[in-house]
Amino acid sequence: MSASEFDIIQRFFYSDDNPEHIRVGIGDDAAVISIPAGSEVVSSVDTLNQGVHFLASIPPAALGYKALAINLSDLAAMAATPAWFTLSLSLPEYDEDWLNAFSAGLKKAATQFLCPLVGGDTTRGPLSISIAIHGFVPQGQALLRSGAKCGDSIYVGGTLGESGLGLQALFNQQNNETDNQSAAALKKHIHAHYYPQPQIALGEMLRHFASACVDVSDGFIADLTHLLEASHVGAEIQFDAIPCSLACTTEQEKITAITAGEDYVLCFCVAKDKEAAFLSAIAGQHTVKKVGEIVHERGMKVINNQGRAMTMPHKGWDHFG
Ligand code: ADP
Ligand code: MG
Repeated sequence: MSASEFDIIQRFFYSDDNPEHIRVGIGDDAAVISIPAGSEVVSSVDTLNQGVHFLASIPPAALGYKALAINLSDLAAMAATPAWFTLSLSLPEYDEDWLNAFSAGLKKAATQFLCPLVGGDTTRGPLSISIAIHGFVPQGQALLRSGAKCGDSIYVGGTLGESGLGLQALFNQQNNETDNQSAAALKKHIHAHYYPQPQIALGEMLRHFASACVDVSDGFIADLTHLLEASHVGAEIQFDAIPCSLACTTEQEKITAITAGEDYVLCFCVAKDKEAAFLSAIAGQHTVKKVGEIVHERGMKVINNQGRAMTMPHKGWDHFG
């Protein structure tokens, strides 16, 4: 690399404009964080490797934004408030334009969700971005996958399928294949794929109302299955109630939407006696959709508008599957 590791950190990642809980940020051997009294720390890490998690054609600004956004989504699913993150970056070469755009995208998400970068590691190697993220949650209020109870209503926090359509469009572009999506739809879906919006504010509200929560990264069917297994319960889902992209009109397109993944919206359960309070608390702030109910019998039953059980491809994304 023509710039030193120190220069890269200093130029593209350093900031001394840190919130109060960051006592020591970038620049020392490690960061020092002060934990608010009565809080617990929620931690997660996610790695993005070129060719596995993203296409080489992704604009670096989108890559920076998305790398942090998908980590933030894990915090949202736990009802945590973002607090700080570290970045382990492996770069094949020093590319100033790339680093400028990547760090700007990363910074955009960090600013939007009030989650500062406090340290990391910079090495040479195949392009890989690994982010470790941490959030705060009041003691005992983290939302788990395992809390769903029989009779709880199941909700989805946003639209499913747009990111999947965006990825499909990018594949089509790469293979010079025509796309039957309109230009406007294409733009919207690719944007959804590049700039997922983690539902941090919704997750924070859910502390008071939800019994269990998961974020939809591998696909609605796969991620809800994880929640059901962790809670030792089953679910009955009304297929027509699932909030799919308007671009999905046929049954097959809707099935693709609920299995494609990378939506980064929340899927959560609310006990019946908390439902009215929940809906009035979020009114005007979040658009959520009730899609079904938790039942005693294990497994997931998806029911069509004729009352018949449908067959779903249960598998979500699995690197070793
Ligand atoms: P050490 O050799 O002690 O591990 P480094 O030279 O790797 O220290 O890092 C110097 C400082 O820069 C540390 O505070 C580290 O956390 C930070 N840092 C390194 N790489 C990054 C990065 N990609 N983003 C943010 N901070 C980084
Ligand atoms: Mg180091």
